[in-house]
Amino acid sequence: MVTFLQKDAMNNIDFTRKKYSELLFRLKDRDYEFITFSEYCKGTFPQRFVILRHDVDLKPLNSFDVAKDEKSIGAKATYYFRAVPESWDDDIIKDICQMGHEVGYHYESLTTCNGDVEKAFEDFKKNLERLRKLVSVNTICMHGSPRSPYDSKDIWKTYDYKSLGIIGEPYLSTDFSQMLYMTDTGRRWDGYKVSVRDKIEGYQDEWNAKGWAFHSTDDIIKALQENRLPDQLMITTHPQRWNDFGFGWMKELLMQNIKNIVKAFIVRR
Ligand SMILES: [Zn+2]
Repeated sequence: MVTFLQKDAMNNIDFTRKKYSELLFRLKDRDYEFITFSEYCKGTFPQRFVILRHDVDLKPLNSFDVAKDEKSIGAKATYYFRAVPESWDDDIIKDICQMGHEVGYHYESLTTCNGDVEKAFEDFKKNLERLRKLVSVNTICMHGSPRSPYDSKDIWKTYDYKSLGIIGEPYLSTDFSQMLYMTDTGRRWDGYKVSVRDKIEGYQDEWNAKGWAFHSTDDIIKALQENRLPDQLMITTHPQRWNDFGFGWMKELLMQNIKNIVKAFIVRR
């Protein structure tokens, strides 16, 4: 009895690889096709689909594990790597691409260049070239940098990424009037309340009114089982947050709770 209860409790621990796989299985049950962001940008996609987006902020090995899980389930996803040592790993970038996933550049050039747009564009081009030596890159995605005063997307007020053969940026090329966006920012699914940049302005209130605001992964799973979600979904996760239950999981829980308090303070200001 005790063992059964413990096992049941273990199954319900959120933000584990196991829970993420369960979410993918439920999406599959509900006939969501898995497409990459690049496929979406090309404009030919099925009626019902989900874009699995992963921002590899750090711990690339976690992303490698998630990519393997997805492949075994028959799901493809889009991974965005930062041009910093804690994210970038040549072998993992190539391996993830070879598994059939898309790889893109998670840029933060305006932050690293302290708001100098010209320098930022040069930095962006240099890193894009470096990534293209490993894999083909069609899409990019900004890294939020909550503590930075700069929004790296602002670089595109001056320059055009299309001139570099880039076809899309999730925050700029997605029709969110048709697509529900969910992100694990802050290690919860309703982190838009504390997020500085990872949120979709103008749509969140409408989504909340439709009952599309979720806290736990089980809340999303329940909505899928009840067929309450729209046909087009984008689900963003940060694989470094999804650990097997143990020390890494506890550490992530504590660290994210502290960060959420700090971010809530920044958002209020
Ligand atoms: Zn990021």
